[in-house]
Amino acid sequence: MKILVINAGSSSLKYQLLNMEDEAVMATGIVERIGETVGNLTHKAYPDTDAEKKVAKEEEIKDHKIAMHMVLDLITGSEAGVIKDPKEIDAIGHRVVQGGEAFTSACVVDNSVKVAIADNNPLAPLHNPANLMGIEVAEELFPGTPNVAVFDTEFHSSMPPKAFLYALPYDYYKELRIRRYGFHGTSHKYVCNKVAELMGKKVDEINVITVHLGNGCSMAAIEKGKCMDTSMGMTPLAGVMMGTRSGDIDPAIVSYIAESKNIGIDEMDNILNKQSGLKGICGLNDMRDIHSAVANGDEMAKLALDMFAYRVKKYIGSYTAVLGSIDAIVFTAGIGENDDVTRAAICQNFSGLGIEMDFDKNNGRKGEPTPVHTDASKVQVWVIPTNEELQIAQESMALLN
Ligand code: ADP
Repeated sequence: MKILVINAGSSSLKYQLLNMEDEAVMATGIVERIGETVGNLTHKAYPDTDAEKKVAKEEEIKDHKIAMHMVLDLITGSEAGVIKDPKEIDAIGHRVVQGGEAFTSACVVDNSVKVAIADNNPLAPLHNPANLMGIEVAEELFPGTPNVAVFDTEFHSSMPPKAFLYALPYDYYKELRIRRYGFHGTSHKYVCNKVAELMGKKVDEINVITVHLGNGCSMAAIEKGKCMDTSMGMTPLAGVMMGTRSGDIDPAIVSYIAESKNIGIDEMDNILNKQSGLKGICGLNDMRDIHSAVANGDEMAKLALDMFAYRVKKYIGSYTAVLGSIDAIVFTAGIGENDDVTRAAICQNFSGLGIEMDFDKNNGRKGEPTPVHTDASKVQVWVIPTNEELQIAQESMALLN
């Protein structure tokens, strides 16, 4: 079975074609700046196991339909093609950010599914309309091929009300659907299943805390394979500190800043989402730049790093309490997989909770699943590269089979 995975953003389109017989990536790429005067496309194809062909294009790409056409031409073309006919693609799996309460699992797209996705637009105005557009373009270009929607929120739909409700007037939950939804669900689910497999356990036998640290950061408390709590909230702004997002703050700060600085809602939104987090403290949001700055004696970069690790550590502590006991912690995504210094800072002085990192094993970037705990550690600590595309493809395949 060949599955094309699509992640459509408002001006971008990421794609990956997978051969599910061996879960190999056949082609992958991204189209960016769709709708701008100059757009660009980067395509990588793997026609043979050890051959990589790269194609880069820079030209005006008016809309998502044209972008998808370009992708289709590349996938089936002579230059860097991997299939002959689009009909060889058995299904298209789409990442959809916000499933709301309507979707607790992936589903094959029909009209009612599209209406329900659009109904969630107010909850994810930057993402859901773009995701839906990706589905509609795929329907047009691949007639007869099933489309599957896989939601970022679905893995978190098992949270109990005491975890997903905010202590606000209850009517707001009913009227405005204000609640914690959580995000990065495909990543949390993928690494949770993977760690169970690596530990030789069934996922319903273990409790896991998954720590996804990328540009966006989120954590999940997972009991026997079911998410009990997660750090992102109604939007991906909540939870731990991120590259440019504040994560949790005292909500009263918002009106205090707005009044003191005489600024409106849009600017406040920009401050919390784009000017805060690591960047707000030290002016840098990329962890690699922060480490270079620390090495050059930048005190504010050091402070940003300390704050970041401290907040993740607090969540691990509170999720250990939520779960009663834990069997494993998994680090994943850009920082989680590559940044040994941050992982070590998070796992310092954790033996009271049975978490003992082996700092030698932790050293270095991890391109493959790696255990980084001591033999004596009660809790296993793993670094596992995430693979959201594969998770989407697997869910699409499971549904169609
Ligand atoms: P996204 O959330 O956009 O998918 P990623 O998962 O790619 O982001 O993570 C991006 C983050 O990973 C950035 O902060 C980047 O600095 C960090 N990162 C990537 N490689 C390294 C590295 N070798 N050392 C430290 N941080 C890294």
